[in-house]
Amino acid sequence: MKSYDDIIIGSGINSLVCAALLARAGRKVCVLERNATLGGCIATEEITLPGFRHDVLSSWHPLFVTSGAFAELGEELAAHGLEYLSADKPTAGLCEDGSSYILSTSREKNLAGLDQLDQVVLQQGLAQIENNADLIFGLLSQQLWRFSMLRLVCTSIWKMGLGKFIDLGRDSTQSVRQWLRCTPDNRAWQACIAPWVLHVGLGPESATSALMAKVVTFTLEAVGMPVVKGGSDQMVKAFSALIEQHGGELITGQDVSEITVDSGRATGVATASGDIFLAHGNVICNVTPQQLYSQLLPTCSVAQDVGERAQAYRFGRADMQIHIALDAPPEWVNPEFSEVAMIHLSDGVDALSRAINQAERGLLPACGTIVVGQPCAVDPSRAPHGKWILWLQLQELPSKVAGDAAGEIEVPFDGKWTPELAEHYADRIVARLRRHIRNLDQVLLKRVVLSPADLEARNRNLVGGDPYSGDCSLDQNLLFRPTSKLRNHDTTVANVYHIGASTHPGPGLSGGSGFLLGSQIR
Ligand SMILES: Cc1cc2nc3c(=O)[nH]c(=O)nc-3n(C[C@H](O)[C@H](O)[C@H](O)COP(=O)(O)OP(=O)(O)OC[C@H]3O[C@@H](n4cnc5c(N)ncnc54)[C@H](O)[C@@H]3O)c2cc1C
Repeated sequence: MKSYDDIIIGSGINSLVCAALLARAGRKVCVLERNATLGGCIATEEITLPGFRHDVLSSWHPLFVTSGAFAELGEELAAHGLEYLSADKPTAGLCEDGSSYILSTSREKNLAGLDQLDQVVLQQGLAQIENNADLIFGLLSQQLWRFSMLRLVCTSIWKMGLGKFIDLGRDSTQSVRQWLRCTPDNRAWQACIAPWVLHVGLGPESATSALMAKVVTFTLEAVGMPVVKGGSDQMVKAFSALIEQHGGELITGQDVSEITVDSGRATGVATASGDIFLAHGNVICNVTPQQLYSQLLPTCSVAQDVGERAQAYRFGRADMQIHIALDAPPEWVNPEFSEVAMIHLSDGVDALSRAINQAERGLLPACGTIVVGQPCAVDPSRAPHGKWILWLQLQELPSKVAGDAAGEIEVPFDGKWTPELAEHYADRIVARLRRHIRNLDQVLLKRVVLSPADLEARNRNLVGGDPYSGDCSLDQNLLFRPTSKLRNHDTTVANVYHIGASTHPGPGLSGGSGFLLGSQIR
């Protein structure tokens, strides 16, 4: 039996950030991970062919480089080998007819590509973020049940006046459809901006999707599209080295099955292999609400209303990843696209809306948004010299498939994702890409498809293949993530805490919940 100050269940980004803060503060920390490798949604593998280093799940780090965790740990992580490269053309929209819009890190260029009316939309949208940055980024990254948050809100009201504060509140609940001008003439601009709401788990008609699209546009314009040099696993290596240097331990292959509680306090955890790890301080859980309250904690430690809310916590749409190894860089019809980090192949807000609606009704979208990530445009070391990789993401999919909106693909009777179903859907995606990448068939060496079922098999927190470990609609965000019955990262047991994508400030690589909790208890 080993004993520690703090035990952290799961090794996702939030766990690594939290463990790093606690270990640096002199606490004896242990991270327990059920998988054979650390990092959760951060993994780099030669999944197609030797020498092609694919970020199998997450890959793009604007959220981490702008986070509190990076501000505090960045220098030490750099000393352990973490290095960032970035693109000054972070993203673009590409329509089926070939029209396109590229967003760069230059405001001047971004405005030059738009007509006068859209210029006003962009300028006003970004001004709203710039002028209210303290409040907006405070709400999106700080603990909400804190006196400091109350002070931030009151100071903002005092500075801007109640009327303007209420106006900002109203604007913040708007959808991206209400923000962007949706006309047939500006579909490429829509295709560049609107699909970003998928990356925060929303849709174009969701409340707050305009605010999130503005925040993303503002961030990409400010920092471009950073990726970890050599592959995202270098970040996990840097974190592990930092934690170990400060006396922490990270143990893989340990599936925590129980948190032991005595007289209202957690005393440690037990794992499926029968090992026991004692905790004198805290047990910190990077798991879903269902796992925490229905499996890990003893029933007698869970208040009934919290248990019920945890059971009712919803997961969102599913995701599929396609990884492609190419023998040469893609010949885009528009050659400028070779320099863009992430392209959205989409026909704008209406197309996005249609695909999401089809997915919500259990259908494979006829023409879903294709997210085309080009890691080699930022970091050529991801593939052997002269070769290339593509990172494709499809975020408008059902967890359980009822049919095909295009009426072409036969789906299994039980609606489960099978390798055959995933391959058929991937064929549809590659066929659409072919129209924009002239040499795709000639240079395609190998493709590997990960279905929603594969995602969940890799990481238990991605229930149903939901990449964000929980629907991000307003009723499950901010104060309500995972439930308004508990404050900040508290649970129903005094020294047990809940972090991870299912908790505020939600999914993404900022490591926000790990940073907030680590800062609180160190
Ligand atoms: C395909 C995909 C692409 C994404 N792309 C991006 C991106 O480019 N940029 C971005 O900012 N965000 C991206 N995201 C979102 C982001 O990666 C995640 O929100 C974030 O990494 C989640 O981190 P986490 O700390 O919540 O833990 P997770 O990464 O979910 O890790 C949790 C870990 O806990 C382990 N675990 C669970 N239960 C137990 C247990 N009982 N015992 C032991 N271990 C346990 C799991 O095995 C897992 O390793 C993406 C997500 C996915 C799925």
